[in-house]
Amino acid sequence: MEGIDLHTHSNISDGTLSPEQLVHAAIEKGIHTLALTDHDTMDGLVLAQQAVENNALKIISGVEISSQWSRPSTKKSYGVHVVALNMQNPAPLNELLEQQKIIRAERAKQICDLLIPLIGEDIYLDVIIKVDNIPDRITRTHIAKTLVEKGYVSRPQQAFDKYIKEGKKAYVKFDGLGLQETIDVIHQSGGFAVLAHPTRYDLSATNIRYLIEIFSKFGGDAVELPPAIEPASTRQMVDRMIAEYNLKVSVGSDFHGDNMPWIRLGNIPRLKEGQVGIWESFF
Ligand code: AMP
Ligand code: MN
Ligand code: MN
Ligand code: MN
Repeated sequence: MEGIDLHTHSNISDGTLSPEQLVHAAIEKGIHTLALTDHDTMDGLVLAQQAVENNALKIISGVEISSQWSRPSTKKSYGVHVVALNMQNPAPLNELLEQQKIIRAERAKQICDLLIPLIGEDIYLDVIIKVDNIPDRITRTHIAKTLVEKGYVSRPQQAFDKYIKEGKKAYVKFDGLGLQETIDVIHQSGGFAVLAHPTRYDLSATNIRYLIEIFSKFGGDAVELPPAIEPASTRQMVDRMIAEYNLKVSVGSDFHGDNMPWIRLGNIPRLKEGQVGIWESFF
């Protein structure tokens, strides 16, 4: 499984490399199977494919979908990311992504509006310049970067902690597709549904387990293995859930270029004995 990375971002969303640059960087790293998984858009896919020469690398179609689920007992809804991989007929998914893009564009404006009384300035025009004036590509990463550049915070993480993460005054929930609907449309498009980074949602251990159970019951195919930097106990819990629900595993770095310089392209965790990679179902 060396040479595989199934979770990466380009500057079509909140990465810093263009799809072409990402492909060239991946080839240099010895990656042979790469999925471009930008947030709620597959607009970078063609550019990535065009950058591949001499079959140097296989591009897997992908997208990271902003989805949500709620615990029936508490009715609280949680945002979760589902990575869709290897779509054979992307039309049904692309149709729903058009809705997601509208939600993303409107939400970016709402976040900037909520920031006005907090910082005394409307930064929307500075944010949208970062995405070639295409509003449906704006992520909170772009808003955080703008807040750093304008001196309101010193690091992007501080922008999240002070203003735009859940519970803060300029937080706006991404009111996207439900989890079941997300998994269903991925399957209608002939792809595989992967629960992205299960340990990165600020969920309790109980809720992580419940999420994986629900994801499996809804027909989800695979769970992304947490990175090696996560505590061993957390990784073991995820491994146990994967085994219990007979899920496949996916591996990806969640590379974002210089926006997250600590994440290296192609840096993926190892599979445990008995785990089956979702990529074995691709070809
Ligand atoms: P969005 O899809 O607009 O909500 O933006 C989500 C992106 O923001 C994620 O993919 C991360 O790259 C980044 N992000 C989300 N939460 C945080 C956080 N607490 N600190 C830093 N970056 C974050
Ligand atoms: Mn991101
Ligand atoms: Mn994510
Ligand atoms: Mn991601």
